[in-house]
Amino acid sequence: MIIAVDFDGTIVEEAYPAIGKPVPFAIEVLKRLQEEEHHQLVLWTVREGKLLEDAVQYCRGRGIEFYAINSLFPGEVDFEISRKIAADVFIDDRSIGGLPDWGLIYRMITKNETWETIFAMQNELPKGKKGFFKKLFT
Ligand SMILES: [Mg+2]
Repeated sequence: MIIAVDFDGTIVEEAYPAIGKPVPFAIEVLKRLQEEEHHQLVLWTVREGKLLEDAVQYCRGRGIEFYAINSLFPGEVDFEISRKIAADVFIDDRSIGGLPDWGLIYRMITKNETWETIFAMQNELPKGKKGFFKKLFT
């Protein structure tokens, strides 16, 4: 699966054009998705030029080498133009509803779950077991 992932506000806290503090477990989850689940990670960001290189270096220094950057195919790197690509999934803090925590992101991708299936599971749980979801949705 091709997974497009945003940088600012998603892998790191929003501090553009600076690089924010790490978002907990973002790098760890991305590594697992890449190394263990064999998904192709595409960095999908409005950053360009030196600011884009900063983001690429940040991730590279933590063991993430993207399959492609602001494009669908490797080698098509264009540090000047950002455009929408045909990824299977987008992970972005600007998604409607906001960014789930990275544990839930991992679960949704590896178990092919959607918000709809998660809400359905919530309703099927016995009353005493709803605390996990209550924490997620409040
Ligand atoms: Mg963002």
